[in-house]
Parts: sequence; structure tokens; C-alpha cells
Amino acid sequence: MSNPLLLQAVRGMNDILPDEAGLWLWFEDTVRDWVESYGYRNIRMPLLEPTALFKRAIGEVTDIVEKEMYSFEDSLNGDHLTLRPEGTASCVRASLQHSLLYNAPQRLYYSGAMFRHERPQKGRYRQFHQVGVEALGFSGPDIDAEQILMCARLWRKLGLRDITLQLNTLGDIEARQRHRVKLISYFEQHCGLLDADATRRLHSNPLRILDSKNPAMQELILAAPKLMDELDDDALRHFEELQKILHRHEIAYEINPRLVRGLDYYNRTVFEWVATRLGAQATVCAGGRFDGLIEQIGGKSAAAAGFAMGIERILALLQEDGMTLPPAPLDVYVIHQGEMAYDMSSLVAENLRDFGLRVLLHCSGGSFKSQMKKADASCARFAVILGDNEVRSGLATLKPLRGGEQIQVEFDALPVKINELIKQG
Ligand code: ATP
Ligand code: MG
Repeated sequence: MSNPLLLQAVRGMNDILPDEAGLWLWFEDTVRDWVESYGYRNIRMPLLEPTALFKRAIGEVTDIVEKEMYSFEDSLNGDHLTLRPEGTASCVRASLQHSLLYNAPQRLYYSGAMFRHERPQKGRYRQFHQVGVEALGFSGPDIDAEQILMCARLWRKLGLRDITLQLNTLGDIEARQRHRVKLISYFEQHCGLLDADATRRLHSNPLRILDSKNPAMQELILAAPKLMDELDDDALRHFEELQKILHRHEIAYEINPRLVRGLDYYNRTVFEWVATRLGAQATVCAGGRFDGLIEQIGGKSAAAAGFAMGIERILALLQEDGMTLPPAPLDVYVIHQGEMAYDMSSLVAENLRDFGLRVLLHCSGGSFKSQMKKADASCARFAVILGDNEVRSGLATLKPLRGGEQIQVEFDALPVKINELIKQG
């Protein structure tokens, strides 16, 4: 039984331990090169925001706002605060607050922890991490296409082949209004077939009924009025233009009229990238256009598009593919015995680091023999050994730990010598 005195992490919030963190670091580096190759710039927002921001941006009757947010009252001043459940609202808020959109569209990206009070399961956590990409102030299908091409490039870079693109258009507000009226009337006619969730949503958010996973309602949903039939010419042209660009780049996709997304701010293009083997939590990346959001948050009306991907789900795919990243190997393990040797060894270690080497300086004493054992276990390439003899002679012992003869090297010459040996392999 686990020790009852030992506190555990909050359910659904994971520690990422050093063995796994290597993969995260590598992914973060890859993402940075990738987004920057499209000219997107990094932005960092706080984890806490006023609750009103998410209510206004995501929508009062969405799953996220209704039941997934970590919201609380600041005990000192009574402010209503929420741990961010997603990044788009904060990114738009920050851009407006700092006038980034004044006469200049912005291509931005961020990466970090998001919080949703969901039932934890594989691929679904209460603290999870997203990379988010937003293009604020762009109205054309060219930017929708750019973002889809970006994603396709990332999957190629990561070697993920079995991720498919689902695409839909939600049209503009007026079309959605017309569709909404038809949907409500259709579902009212068949209200006996609605489950509790759908009945609850019937008048608040009928579009979300289309997203229901309940098998008993699938037939009803399939025959429901289609949003596609309500689209006006501009929205249709936008969608066709996007598809043309995707064809030109040979991006395969499937149009899924039931793709509606769980956040209210989307319009026109919406898309999801779905892994064919992640089980229930298969969507690794989702996004689309949100032309009304900037104005809704208090800015001057401007179109925008973006997407966010779930890092845990992508790393799970990579791990299933057998990808592991061994921690970066140490170059040198420095062993020492005696007070003078310690003084010298800490100078030597700092000097080696000045030359770009990864160095572990043995701490906490112990015999030469036990220190040598630790050096071997550390998988470092070399041990540098300093004892009384070495201090007296001014020559350190340099011992290759993966075969080869040990040699004596002047303290100051160590960095160059070690780098030389590393280059020789
Ligand atoms: P889902 O339908 O799986 O609940 P969502 O529509 O709520 O996803 P978005 O808000 O669009 O998700 O977030 C974008 C991506 O972030 C998702 O596609 C997914 O990869 C990831 N994601 C969302 N919620 C979680 C979570 N609780 N745990 C881990 N990853 C998540
Ligand atoms: Mg969700």
C-alpha cells in the first residue's frame, strides 16, 4: 500500500519524469523550428485569466465552460479567476490589450499547460499541454490552407503517417442562425428520440447534438437538416478555394458535415486531425476560423484562424512507434580525493564546461573505487581523475570509459584534448 503520509499529485495531472522529458524537449525543439519556418512568433500568456474571458469567448453553454473549468474566487479580492482551458481566448486578449493588431496582422504561437476538469483516461488529462497557432487579422482561405499545410508538414517531420484530416465549414452567423432554427424544429418533431444530453441542449446549443456519440441517436442525426445547405455564396467560395489549395498540395481530406467543434467561436472552416489508432481520444489537433472572436472580446472586428494540438496525444503516438530518446550523454565525470584535489577539480570542471562539454563533478566524497563505479554507471565518455599525485604533478588522469588507454594531461590542456578525442570518435 502506498504511504498515506506521502502526498500525491492532483488526479489527472501528470509528472513528466526525466526519462520521458527528453522526448518533450525534442518535440518542443522540433515545434519551434517548424512554426518559425512559417514566420509565426512566440507569445506567452498567463495561466490564470478572468473567468469572464472564457465565458465570453468559448460560450456559456459549451462543455468547457459548463463543466470543465477550474474556476475560483480569489480569496483576497473576490476576483473570479479560471485556469486557462485553452489558449485562443488568452492569445486574442493579449493581442488586443497590447494593441498588436493595430494595422498589423499577427502570426503567433504558444505552447503550455491547459486545465480542464474532465474524467482522466488515456489521452485525456486535467492538466494537459497544447501547442497553439493563431493567425489574427487574416480573412482569406490562403491562411486556412497555410495552417493545414503546416500541420501536414509537422506530421511528416515527426514521421506520423496515419493521421487523417477531417474538414467542414460552419458558414457564417446568419447561415448558422437559419440552420439553428431548422435544427430545433426538426429535433422538436422527434423529441421522443432525444437523450437527456440532447434534450438539455435542444434550445441552448442544438448544433452540439450533431456531435453526440450516442449510437441510439445516429439515425436521427444523419437525417437532420444540413448546415451545408444554408451556406451563402461567400462562405461557399471560401470553402471551395481552400479545397483547391489543398488539392494543389495533394493534401488528402474527408469532408465531415458533423464536425462542429466544442467551442462556440468557430465559423467557416473547421478541421480536425484524427489518428487512426489512438482509440477513443483520437483527435490530435483541431482548429479553424474564428472571425467573430476578436470583436466579441472587445477589439475592432478582424478575421482570424488557428489550431491547437494536444502534446500528450502526439507523444503517445510517437511512443507507440517505439520512439525513445536517451538522455543527452555526459562527456566527463570528474573524480577527486583530498581537499586540494577537490579545489582543483571544481576549477577543472568549470573550465571544461567553458568549452561546451557536459560535465558531472562528483559530490559527497567516497573512495576512488566507489567514485569510479559511479563514473562507469553514468555512461560518461571520460573520467577525469584528480588525487594528491595529480595535484602535485599538475597532470590529471584522463580515462576513457568506453575502452582505450588512460593518459596524463595538463589541467589547462584537458578541454582541447577531450574535444579532440570526442571528434575522433
Ligand atoms: P475532445 O473532443 O477530445 O474533448 P476538444 O475538442 O475538447 O477535444 P480542443 O479544445 O479542440 O479539444 O483542443 C485541441 C486538442 O487538445 C485536442 O484535439 C486534443 O488533442 C487536446 N486535448 C483537449 N483536451 C484534452 C485533455 N483533456 N487531455 C489531453 N489532451 C486534450
Ligand atoms: Mg473536450
